[in-house]
Amino acid sequence: MAGPAWLEPLFPDLAPPFVHGMTNVRGPYLKSDPDAAVHAAAVAEVGAAAGLVAIAWSRQVHGGTVKRVEAPGCAGEADALWTDRTGLAVMGRSADCPIVLLAGRNAADAPLWGMAHASWRSTASDITGHLLEAMIDGGLDPATTVAIVAPSAGPCCYEVGDEVREAFVAGLGAGAARFFSEARGKWILDLWAANSDALRRRGLAPDRVHCDGRCTICGDEFPSYRRDGAKSGRFGVFVGA
Ligand SMILES: [Zn+2]
Repeated sequence: MAGPAWLEPLFPDLAPPFVHGMTNVRGPYLKSDPDAAVHAAAVAEVGAAAGLVAIAWSRQVHGGTVKRVEAPGCAGEADALWTDRTGLAVMGRSADCPIVLLAGRNAADAPLWGMAHASWRSTASDITGHLLEAMIDGGLDPATTVAIVAPSAGPCCYEVGDEVREAFVAGLGAGAARFFSEARGKWILDLWAANSDALRRRGLAPDRVHCDGRCTICGDEFPSYRRDGAKSGRFGVFVGA
């Protein structure tokens, strides 16, 4: 993808017709109200640079809601979006939360694609698993599907409290405790493992579940709320076809 220095592709091996990528700390300001005109303008700037004609996004609320979108613009409250509408990309925004992208095909070889904003609360609500399930219900063949977890708070840095571990066990079962380790007297949550596991449990082959592996907190390429607090921006992560 030729373009500005604030834009790069995300999947290591996802060919056209899929278009995918992410912005970074130098990209357009994506922190504004998702219903505001200034936000639509910032999204449009990303779209123009990436060669996308239409983008749908949502008001991310750290929940478990998945929506199928048919039109560009803000789709209301949801933490996962998917579509099979040609030319319509979906974009999530993050400052530490993993954005998970999915892309695959149905039995007629037509593409489907989606994104999940997998904050710890949304991950405890199994947002990524619910996105994959919704897309499978919409015709997606898991055998054709690839996924990637975008840069986000990594298992090197992501310290959380007891309430987060309790929410995971309550939402995902006792097995979710394995995504937590102890270091420096704190729980360390591995959101990359938790979201990858949600996809593998629903039938995605391990070699089709990718993780970018860059940590937003200890790196300096992407906005990080944990590192920069309220002054941090947001970066956008998108997939379309
Ligand atoms: Zn880190």
